[in-house]
Amino acid sequence: MNLSTPIENITGIGPVFKKRLKRLGIKTINDLFFHFPRKYEDFSNLIPISKIKLDEICTINGTVLEINTIRTWKKRMFITEAIIEDKTGAVKVVWFNQPFLTKTLKKGDKVFLSGKATASKKGIFLSNPIYEKGDAKNLTHTGRLIPVYPETAGLSSRWLRFILKPLLTRLGSQVKETLPKEIIKKFDLMPIQQALWEVHFPTSLELSQKALERFSFEELFFIELFVLRERNLLNQEESVPIPTKLRIIQNFVKSLSFNLTDAQKKSSWQILKDLEIPRPMNRLLEGDVGSGKTVVAAMAALNTAKQNYQTAFMAPTEILAKQHFQEIANLFSDFKINIGLLTGKQDQLRSKKLNNQVIEISRRKLLEKTLSGEIDVLIGTHALIQDKVKFGKLGLVVLDEQHRFGVEQRAHLCRNQNIIPHLLSMTATPIPRTLALTIYGDLDLSLIDELPKGRKKVITKIIEPNKRKETYDFIKKEIKKGRQAFIICPRIEKNEDKELSEAKLSWAKVKAVKDEYEKLSKKIFPDLKLAMLHGKMTPKEKETIMKDFKRKKTDILVSTSVVEVGIDVPNATVMVIEGAERFGLAQLHQFRGRVGRSEYQSYCLLFTDSSAKKTYQRLKALIESEDGFALAEKDLAIRGPGDFSGTRQWGIPDLMMSSFKDISLVEKTRQSAKEILQKDPELKKYPQLRAKLSRFRQKVHLE
Ligand code: ADP
Ligand code: MG
Repeated sequence: MNLSTPIENITGIGPVFKKRLKRLGIKTINDLFFHFPRKYEDFSNLIPISKIKLDEICTINGTVLEINTIRTWKKRMFITEAIIEDKTGAVKVVWFNQPFLTKTLKKGDKVFLSGKATASKKGIFLSNPIYEKGDAKNLTHTGRLIPVYPETAGLSSRWLRFILKPLLTRLGSQVKETLPKEIIKKFDLMPIQQALWEVHFPTSLELSQKALERFSFEELFFIELFVLRERNLLNQEESVPIPTKLRIIQNFVKSLSFNLTDAQKKSSWQILKDLEIPRPMNRLLEGDVGSGKTVVAAMAALNTAKQNYQTAFMAPTEILAKQHFQEIANLFSDFKINIGLLTGKQDQLRSKKLNNQVIEISRRKLLEKTLSGEIDVLIGTHALIQDKVKFGKLGLVVLDEQHRFGVEQRAHLCRNQNIIPHLLSMTATPIPRTLALTIYGDLDLSLIDELPKGRKKVITKIIEPNKRKETYDFIKKEIKKGRQAFIICPRIEKNEDKELSEAKLSWAKVKAVKDEYEKLSKKIFPDLKLAMLHGKMTPKEKETIMKDFKRKKTDILVSTSVVEVGIDVPNATVMVIEGAERFGLAQLHQFRGRVGRSEYQSYCLLFTDSSAKKTYQRLKALIESEDGFALAEKDLAIRGPGDFSGTRQWGIPDLMMSSFKDISLVEKTRQSAKEILQKDPELKKYPQLRAKLSRFRQKVHLE
């Protein structure tokens, strides 16, 4: 047996557990070692039974005097009761729904129990404690700090500990150090083997912290190394220089029905300058919802077209692709440009030969015209990176709301030509600087940090629970005026998340789209047209629903967070968010950005069941600020980075996410990665780094 031994070769892991582990991405013993706990439970307080105190977590060691399971029919529950005794006294222990315990624990057994002392009318008892038979020197589940793992159905932390400990004892010494010695020394990091032990079975909280620090450092270090290397590699590539046609740009700006904001001008300029350089542009255009990113991208596409290169414009959904097609056709109304729309069914072409008329076109024809270079701008979804789509002279790739891996998509798009096109990614997700430095470190950044003038501020309010009826009346009034409303719920249906057992109780109260939709359409708004939208629908269903809403065939859209990205329904003026505490500030801000897109006054109304101070703080921040970046910084400070898109894709364990908050750590790792690459760009002297980096690369690119 070694580290790469598949898990199914371990005794105790059959096909069922293999499948469950696979769901967590665990295939080998090594994967198992790097499946980190989510938190620790401190059961190190080993005390005599006589010292048990109410509501305190403790561990006792005693003998089973008696043990019995009964089934209560009324509550449909198994209750196992036992009496445990040590030299100082005896205590009652109660377990719920674990009838098998009477098979494991027998009268006379010596046992360790860790749990919380609870009181009933009859006195103090231990409720649902964790049990362990074993000797005090070698405890796994009780009497110490114990790891609690992120669990999926059918894989308990207890089981994981049980499997992991003997393996770590046997094979832990085979894990090789991944970080260079000089870095370990310089930053006083814990060596990898010790750190693995301390992460899974810590001897103290401090040491587990130090172990995590090491792994956080390592994680960030590899991200930095990866990002910097990608950048170095890209800088060696050649791309087509696309000089700026100043006259065209000036005419374009003049043709617009509005004045560009300074931030738009600045970003456009940065992009045009990048295009002129014979190295591939790799730029992220970040701007709040409604800040006007499309026109900036359109300007780059126009310039590219006028220099006889093509632009591929990729949107995350079909609705957005169509929206872009219309908007760009609109923006280019004074210019002779061929624009293609490649979607699921109806492909379209705006043809300059036909005086900018929009016509339907067959897929075959559209592909032909793309290959011949006749199409100047091709807009579409992921369909654009199918093998059939080939460009004749692709000069620029624009990705809207696609956070990472633009590099991959670009590679795909230009696979049949020998030039590498320039890449512009756009995102409305405001990413705090620390985070951007890390996850987008290989991109240049352009910011649109101001909104066009004259936008009406969206009125944001927390609604007291007893004002629900008034809120519904208000919505009715708005709809009577001809407006529309969104109602966002945190989840699709009740009790869908079985694994969230801890949080289950509080979740049970959270509004679900399906129930809410039923209730609202039957009881509250029987005279209005409602529709429902959620992630379990097919793309086609979603598309129809969104289209109907855009065309005002429905008045109210009850939706989960799927509605978040980029949808433009200027006529909608009310955004109601149920269970607002369930969303991050950045996400709430995105929801709010769905309204306030017209001359009408818009409203963002927040409902929350939580009375926690933190919730109030966060929602208040939303009310007070309209600045997506400021909100993102706040979110990072209050909640940690768990919710920022982009970070997920790196597959970083939750326990380490907090390291992103620490800018000094980000800077340290960045500096170290830089130094190593400067000394040894190919990493010839660091075979371990190379090996891990190539695994890392695979992981990142496979996402
Ligand atoms: P986003 O950055 O969210 O993608 P869009 O590009 O869709 O925003 O722009 C939102 C709306 O604002 C569009 O209708 C666009 O025409 C308009 N717009 C863009 N720039 C300006 C500006 N400088 N002044 C006024 N309206 C603008
Ligand atoms: Mg947009």
